[in-house]
Amino acid sequence: MSIVHVASECSPFAKVGGLADVVLGLSRELSHSVPVTIILPKYASLDLSLLKLNPQPAQKTFSLERSPPIHALFWKASYQSLSFILIEPSAPYDYFKYTQVYGLSQDIDRFLLFSYLAFKWIETEGTFKILHLHDWPSAFVAPLYKKFSKKKDAKIVLTLHNLLHQGRCHPHHLQPFDLENEPSFQDPQDPHLVNLLKAGILYSDHLTTVSPSYAKEILTPSFSYHLDEPLHQIKDRLSGILNGIDYEYWNPFHSPYLKPSYPSSGKDLAKISDILKAKHLNKKALRSFFKLNQTDKPLFCAITRLDQQKGPFLLSHAAKTILDNGGQYILLGHLSDPSLTDHFNHLKNTYEKTGDFYFHNAFDERLAHLLYAAADFILIPSLFEPCGLTQMIAIRFFTIPIARTVGGLADTVFDIDDPYLDEAKKTGLTFKNLSTESIDQTLLRAFSLFKSSQKKEKLLTHYLSLDLSWKESAKKYLILYKNLIN
Ligand code: ADP
Repeated sequence: MSIVHVASECSPFAKVGGLADVVLGLSRELSHSVPVTIILPKYASLDLSLLKLNPQPAQKTFSLERSPPIHALFWKASYQSLSFILIEPSAPYDYFKYTQVYGLSQDIDRFLLFSYLAFKWIETEGTFKILHLHDWPSAFVAPLYKKFSKKKDAKIVLTLHNLLHQGRCHPHHLQPFDLENEPSFQDPQDPHLVNLLKAGILYSDHLTTVSPSYAKEILTPSFSYHLDEPLHQIKDRLSGILNGIDYEYWNPFHSPYLKPSYPSSGKDLAKISDILKAKHLNKKALRSFFKLNQTDKPLFCAITRLDQQKGPFLLSHAAKTILDNGGQYILLGHLSDPSLTDHFNHLKNTYEKTGDFYFHNAFDERLAHLLYAAADFILIPSLFEPCGLTQMIAIRFFTIPIARTVGGLADTVFDIDDPYLDEAKKTGLTFKNLSTESIDQTLLRAFSLFKSSQKKEKLLTHYLSLDLSWKESAKKYLILYKNLIN
């Protein structure tokens, strides 16, 4: 059984968010059992020094309805145990010559063409039994394959990472594929539009979400962004498989970005005290990098895109509560929603002069590693969260998550003070309501947990026994693939 992932992102070459981590981590784990290929656009920003690139790409030409012929290069490359096909269409379709992954006015045409070229490559070169697609940028491979493949011998899995983004567009974008009049592609909100994610949902053999809770949530109007009806149609083919994290990439025991890496893992309390010593050194390094006060205050952090999904107003509100109660707070937040810029700049101007707050507006993987290692707590007050990786990465770095119980956060963060929970399950601090009162109460509980070193060390020791890697979840995907093929 060989598998191909068709995706718009893959760590560490092209990363915007968790999708990139999932494509790399899941593929790497699967590749221990089956051959895996990843098809990715050849963005101008790809760091080719990380890849072994075959210098002779295959060149192919395709004709579509009412369009000039498409010349495209298909570059074979490898990275560790994984094979890649990097797709590079030539002018006038040179859609990936930009450094951005998303955010261009041509995004719909860019990813439709990517899906089409991936389909063509799979059709003529591939012997894949499973086509695994991710979100709207590659979802359109499903209808293309089901309608136009001559072989039709592969099964299609589509993973829904975030239903907010659906590839809604005018049907004329589908004219080149002669699919502009397909009734099932009609957007549920606007009959004048088509919806690429919906098309992918209806034409896939199986759908997965990135956590079990999200699989249930998206069948309800509050989380489905109008796709609950098509999702109800296919709900027998929908399952939730919790994401893992790539233990090699997120490895605090061996990382070029930590100052220093944690001492090698062990299972006893003595080791936790060594880990906390290493955490303290990372904290010192980070405080001096951001010119923050060197104190023994607890360090809170958030590592996130700053947009409405991630609870921006609770993230900013937390600054006052943390500082008023004698803590420090570093917010590594990439402002992806321009309407939030003034709000966060105001926050920066208000609190940075205290020496206990820093807002770094960037997407910075190296700094993220150091911050996971240095912080005591991480805040994740999301409005909705299909899975969320930051809480799992934090636990791997012995940093305690403070999370809202929604989506994948509800599947991974279990409250230390919940009297009804089994001790062995507890992993952090949670709150339910999206309100300043709820997050404030939870932050106060975090302060008291920080003071109670016995309780804190018990929790951190428990982290040593958790396995949040891809091992178990990749097994579930393998079983799903096998069931689909047989
Ligand atoms: P989403 O995909 O919705 O953004 P996830 O929690 O699934 O959220 O994944 C986020 C990934 O992106 C994690 O690997 C996290 O470390 C990383 N990340 C998020 N924001 C930043 C940032 N500002 N700088 C560096 N890495 C970030």
